[in-house]
Amino acid sequence: MRKPFLAGNWKMNTDAASAVALAKGIVAAVGQADNIDVAVCPPFVYLQAVAMALSSSNVALGAQDVFHQPDGAFTGEISCKMLKDVCCTYAIIGHSERRHVIGETDELINNKIKAAINGGLLPIFCVGELLEERQAGKTNRIVSDQVKKGLDGICQERILAVTIAYEPVWAIGTGVNATSQQAQEVHAMIRDLVAKLYNKEIAGQLRIQYGGSAKPANTAELMAQPDVDGLLIGGASLKASDFAAMINTSIQVKCK
Ligand code: PEP
Repeated sequence: MRKPFLAGNWKMNTDAASAVALAKGIVAAVGQADNIDVAVCPPFVYLQAVAMALSSSNVALGAQDVFHQPDGAFTGEISCKMLKDVCCTYAIIGHSERRHVIGETDELINNKIKAAINGGLLPIFCVGELLEERQAGKTNRIVSDQVKKGLDGICQERILAVTIAYEPVWAIGTGVNATSQQAQEVHAMIRDLVAKLYNKEIAGQLRIQYGGSAKPANTAELMAQPDVDGLLIGGASLKASDFAAMINTSIQVKCK
């Protein structure tokens, strides 16, 4: 049984005061629920303040990215150790905005995933196809290529540190979510691939989140899919009441 996992990606939003207020609102909403994993991923500069707001709660802290080198002359970058220092548990890696806006390659993403695991962080590893790739019938090829390259060199003993987030690029921030059937098809394909790369038992345990315009209104349908284990949520995670509704719905759907 895979524990559901919802993570909020705040992207480049909030300020110091609103980040803390949002974190407190989410802590209040989650309460003592322990049948779901919940994380929030604020901008780097607010991690420490949000960590304080989350202390002694069931809500974990994640970063939106991490650099693979341990230290040195890498202006603007943040290491695993720095993120651990401010109480991060998770790091989003390979988000489509980093792949397609910043230009991150599969090789860099793979290095980051390996460094994160070695440094004691749990990667949320994002994959997903562009609209033109889906329209050209290339979804499975693109996504499996990203999964294989991202997980290259990660051994059986460590792979379960990773959560894979399937985020079709055309659904992110557009208001157009993948249908639950489209999500399920790709999630099942990813799980089959993980079984081939590792084994069936690992594939059965590895969590796969869906991301792309997930919101309260579509949470039940998405979470009802057998291979959808959670959600990576952008826009809707910026409103505590929406995020809370999605957490509650996920518990109802997956933990009944
Ligand atoms: C995301 O940022 O990972 C995301 C899925 O955004 P949104 O929910 O706003 O589409």
